[in-house]
Order: sequence, then structure tokens, then C-alpha cells
Amino acid sequence: MPELPEVETVRSALAREVVTRKIKTVTVNDGRAVRRHKSAKDFRDLLEGRSIKGVDRLGKNIVVALDNGNHLVIHLGMTGQVRRAKNAKEPKPKHTHVDITFTGGEELRFADQRLFGELYVSAPPAEGEEVEISKFARLSIGGDGLSLRRQVPELAHLGIDPFEDQVGWDRFAAVLRSRRVALKSVLTDQDIIAGIGNIYADEILFAAGLMYDRVSESLSTIEIRRLHRTIPEILTEAVKQGGTTLADEMFVNLDGEPGSYQDQLQVHTREGQPCYQCRTPVSKVVFHQRATYFCVKCQG
Ligand SMILES: [Zn+2]
Repeated sequence: MPELPEVETVRSALAREVVTRKIKTVTVNDGRAVRRHKSAKDFRDLLEGRSIKGVDRLGKNIVVALDNGNHLVIHLGMTGQVRRAKNAKEPKPKHTHVDITFTGGEELRFADQRLFGELYVSAPPAEGEEVEISKFARLSIGGDGLSLRRQVPELAHLGIDPFEDQVGWDRFAAVLRSRRVALKSVLTDQDIIAGIGNIYADEILFAAGLMYDRVSESLSTIEIRRLHRTIPEILTEAVKQGGTTLADEMFVNLDGEPGSYQDQLQVHTREGQPCYQCRTPVSKVVFHQRATYFCVKCQG
């Protein structure tokens, strides 16, 4: 499933591609991709004729700002892809459910084999309407995350975004110490920390030297500071590599190219292979229905 680095890879390419462009037509081939809207026509009418002002990201959501104050939200789900085409003649990827054509003829296509992903247009809250923002996100002292949540109420529940919200290690410590659950559950709970999923949780915990099932509230100050530092380090490096594309997964960028961070994974998908730090074979367990990889020697 695409996580923060993959979604950020798509976001930054989209920002270069579509800002200032005007949407001419929208074609919906499968209404399930726009299921929040009462009809495909409703979705189309909210987009056609609009220009794009900017492209942001919150957690695993791409947030496209339109010139009338609305936002187009794109979630890639498990197998979603956003692809660009110079014109309508370029062959469409399989499972293309939505086609957005700009006035210059360029297209954006949303393809999704399993259809857990979706697109929807979000309207900002009405004047005087309160948006309840995640208590974890409210710990932020800077960044764009809070204003994005205020403009897109559907995303207000999202927890701390490691890039968009600034939360110092001491406040991060308070979050961890308020939870009596396994660390991996905290890292992958989108309502606490937004953007991390199965792959990067394993990699972050390995880099921080912490076991996936350590009880969140049991961490020492040194461990918390290390984890707090490691999260943006790993995610930043993965963004530089264009994200991770595993053998059985579908992630590609706007041009259909895979990422390369899979070559740098330390534990995820490496069951039985020697740990790069200590040569102990990497272990795998199923934790909350998800494959979890770790080194018994390097993580404690
Ligand atoms: Zn090791």
C-alpha cells in the first residue's frame, strides 16, 4: 500500500505538472472510484472548468487545491496509480477509472486494480462551522498541516503528519506515554500519526532499535528521542528514492516508473536473510494480520 513517501512522490510530480492548468473534461469509467459523490455527474460538475492552484499532501492523501476554494482529494488505497499522458491518444493503463483532461489536451488518469482508492471533491466548512481537528495534530507548532485540515474537513481526523506538522520530541513523548499498545500499532494508526504503514513502520522501528511490540508507554526518553528523529529520516530518504515498489505491488510514479527504496529496505520483506548490521537472520511474524519484519538482536 502506498505510504507517505510514495504519495509524496506523486504529489511533488503532480505539483510540477498541473498547477495553473484548467480542467476541461472529466470522464468516470467506474463510479466506485468516486463513491462519496451521489453520482459521477456530481463529481464531474465540481471539477470541469476549474483551475488548479496547488497540490499538497496530508498523510496518505493528495490534496489538490481548486480555484474556487474546493479541494480534490486523491487516496491511492492499495493499488491506486495516478498517471499522466500528453494527450488522449496515449494508451490508458489497465483499470483506468477516472480521466481528467486539461484544456491543453494533457490528461491525468486514475487507475486502481483493487479499487480501495478513491477521488472526491471536498468543500471547505461553511462560515462559522467548527471543524474538529485531531488532538494529536493540534500538538503541532508549525507547518501546513493544521490549515489543510481546516480547509478539508474529511481529513481533520488525521494525526500528526511527519512532514506537514511540527511536533517536538517532548510532545511526541506525551503521545507515546498516553498509549498502552504496541509501538507498531501507534506508528500505523492514521489518527495518531498519518502517513506510515506496514513497510515504513518496520523500517523505522529497525532504525530506531525498537521492537514492534514494545508497549508505547514503556519507552525511555532516549528511545523516544531516537524514534522521533528516525521517523523523518527514513521517510525523507524514501522520498529521495521515489518510494518503494515491492515485487507484488503496483506503486509507480506519474510516468509509470517504480521507486527504488525497496533496494534499501533493512528488514521489510527480508525474512531469513542476514541482518545488514549483525548478520542474524531477519525474523517475520504476523502482527494484527500484517507481516512484520525485525531483527531480534538489533531491536529491543
Ligand atoms: Zn541485526
